[in-house]
Amino acid sequence: MAGRETRAVQPEIERARDLISRGGVVALTGAGISTDSGIPDFRGPQGVWTTDPKAERMSDISYYLSDPDIRRRSWQNRLSAPAWTAEPNPGHRALADLERLGLLTDLLTQNIDGLHQLAGSSPQIVVELHGTMRESICMTCGDRRDMQLVLERVRAGEEDPECTECDGILKSATVSFGRSLDPEDLWRAEKAARSADVFLAVGSSLGVYPVAALVPVAARDGAQIVIVNAEPTPYDELAAAVIRGSISEVLPQLVPPE
Ligand code: NAD
Repeated sequence: MAGRETRAVQPEIERARDLISRGGVVALTGAGISTDSGIPDFRGPQGVWTTDPKAERMSDISYYLSDPDIRRRSWQNRLSAPAWTAEPNPGHRALADLERLGLLTDLLTQNIDGLHQLAGSSPQIVVELHGTMRESICMTCGDRRDMQLVLERVRAGEEDPECTECDGILKSATVSFGRSLDPEDLWRAEKAARSADVFLAVGSSLGVYPVAALVPVAARDGAQIVIVNAEPTPYDELAAAVIRGSISEVLPQLVPPE
């Protein structure tokens, strides 16, 4: 570990770019790829939970379902979420470039902001493991709608809008703590990790399971692991290259020249 900390960044970038240029890359992204687009992460030094530990309750399904006040606050937060005006940054665009070059086959993301698709990544290769904030879902009947339609109702004065089909509780179509991931999404992600030649983990503290376990799964089945993150992660020891730096500066340097 100490050896890694003292390794210079540039040789690690060159090693990572060489691995990536051979193709068969599967990427896993976390909140850190979107901080340079103005969307704070949860656990980084300026993260939402680091600066306000009570905010974690908003993401816990049992509090959300049982407490109308938490729901009212959640709807107000959704109205003003930075993601509605955020633009993709060079980190998102570098991953779209890797796909265009035929090097990236799957883009697994813990993010709910939809910025990969806005950057030009094909929806078919993006697996949103923690769901999307761009749709609402009814907790009773499962009805899904464009989130903007529900936010219109909140703007018009409904503090805790109910499902128009069954009066159930609505929330964003994201996976809250205490809920399981969509089994089909998890299956796709595991299949991709097992078949990866290079597994590129970007902007995640790799502390949220089961997604973090994709790193050792990929390594066990022969993938070279590349980690790009400002802080150490529990899987740095498994990696062929660990790059500590700004994601929006580092990722464009990992795209091989055409
Ligand atoms: P995390 O908050 O646990 O970790 C983010 C990591 O990225 C940290 O280790 C931090 O040091 C690093 N980082 C932040 N900005 C960086 C930058 N510019 N350059 C390099 N490194 C940077 O994030 P997580 O592991 O993805 O888990 C949080 C969960 O919260 C996710 O599962 C996701 O569902 C949700 N979330 C999503 C968003 C989003 O969609 N943008 C934002 C916040 C949280």
